[in-house]
Amino acid sequence: MKKESGLRRTTNEQRRESPGFSTRAIHDGQEPDPLTGAVNVPIYASSTYVQEELGKNKGYEYARVTNPTRDRLETNLASLEGGVASRVFASGMAAINAICAMYKSGDHVVCGHDLYGGVPRLFNQVLSGYGVEFTYVDTSDPKNVERAIRKSTRMVYVETPTNPLMTVSDIAAIARICRSKKVELVVDNTFMSPYFQQPIALGADMVVHSTTKFLNGHSDGLGGVVVCTRQDQAEQLGFVQKAAGAILSPFECWLVLRGTKTLAVRMLQHDCNGRQVAEFLAAHNKVKAVFYPGLKDHPQHELAKRQMSGFGSMITFETGSLANAAKMLKRVRVCSLGESLGGVETLISHPATMTHAALGEKGRKAIGITDGMVRISVGIENVEDIIADLNQALT
Ligand SMILES: *Cc1c(COP(=O)(O)O)cnc(C)c1O
Repeated sequence: MKKESGLRRTTNEQRRESPGFSTRAIHDGQEPDPLTGAVNVPIYASSTYVQEELGKNKGYEYARVTNPTRDRLETNLASLEGGVASRVFASGMAAINAICAMYKSGDHVVCGHDLYGGVPRLFNQVLSGYGVEFTYVDTSDPKNVERAIRKSTRMVYVETPTNPLMTVSDIAAIARICRSKKVELVVDNTFMSPYFQQPIALGADMVVHSTTKFLNGHSDGLGGVVVCTRQDQAEQLGFVQKAAGAILSPFECWLVLRGTKTLAVRMLQHDCNGRQVAEFLAAHNKVKAVFYPGLKDHPQHELAKRQMSGFGSMITFETGSLANAAKMLKRVRVCSLGESLGGVETLISHPATMTHAALGEKGRKAIGITDGMVRISVGIENVEDIIADLNQALT
C-alpha cells in the first residue's frame, strides 16, 4: 500500500449527498442559538422549566424527559447516520441496555460471538436474569444468523468490525435475512463511525454507538446513542430515557456536538495513520499476525472494501506471548497504555487482561483472543512518531 503523509482524499456515498456529510455534521442540530446568535449550541444546565400556567409550557418540563442541548445532539446524530431520530444515553452500555429494556422474559436475541466485552456481560449477567435469552454466533457467516433465529427472536445484534478481532460481517446480507424473518437488526457502528460506514443505508433498523469513542473523539466524556429508522422506535427509547433515567448530561451532549464537527477530518487522518501502522506491523519480524480489514490478507477484505469507505484505525496484532505483550506495553512512550479507543491520542491495550478479561480464559479461547494480542487505536499524532514508538517497543 502506498505511503501517504497528508490527508487522504476519498469519495464515498454519503459525501456525494447534498448537503454533504461534513456540512450536516457542522450544521444539522447545530444551528445558531435563536436568542443570541451564539454559533455553538448552549449548554442548557437546567433541571426544570418554568410553566406559564397549568398545562402550558414551551415543550420542556423536566430535564430527564427533554433538554434542548440533548435535542440538538439527537438531531445531529440522526442526520449523520441517515436515521429519522436518535436517543442519547449516559454511556454506550446504557444505550444498548435501553434497546433491551422493553424485552420480556422469553424474548430472544441473536448476537455476534466476539462483541465488545461489556455487551455479553450485560446480556449474560443482567438481562438473562430477567429471562431474556441470547444465542451467540459468528455473524461473519450470515447463515449462522439465519439458523439461530427463532419465533421468539426480537433482535439480531451485530458489531462490525468486531472488537478486538476486526472480523467484518455483511450488514446487507444479514439485513435481508432479518427482514424476511421480521426481526430487527441492530448494528454497533462504534469502530467505523457514520463517516466510514452507514448501516441504515445497508438495511439496519437501528444503529448503536458508544459516543465515548470516535464521535466525541477527545476521550473526555462517556455517552451512547441509538439511531432509529422509525418514529415508534424513537418513542419507545424516549420512554426508556424518561422511565429508566440513564440520560446524557447537557455538558456531555455539548462535547459530542463539538466532536462531530471535526468527525470527517479526524476519521480521514485516523484512517490514513491506521493504514500505515498496519503496514508497518505486518512487515515487522516480531509481529506474528495483524488483524486489520485494510490488509489484503484479511479474510473479509473484499467485503470491507464494499461495505466501508475507509478502514479506520483499530488494529489488533499478535506478539506471540503474554510476556512479549507485557514487555512492549511497558516500553511505549507516544502510545498510552489504556482502555478505550477513538480519541485523538493513540491508545494501546491488552484485550485478555483489560477489555475482555470478563470473558474468562475459556471464553477468550473459544473466539480466538490470545494472551499475546495487543490492540491499538491509532490516533492522529504524526504517524512517523507512532511507528517509531511501536518499533522501539517491539525491538
Ligand atoms: C466502548 C464500547 C461500547 C460501550 O460503550 P461505553 O460508552 O463504554 O459504555 C460498546 N460497543 C463498542 C464497540 C465499544 O467500543
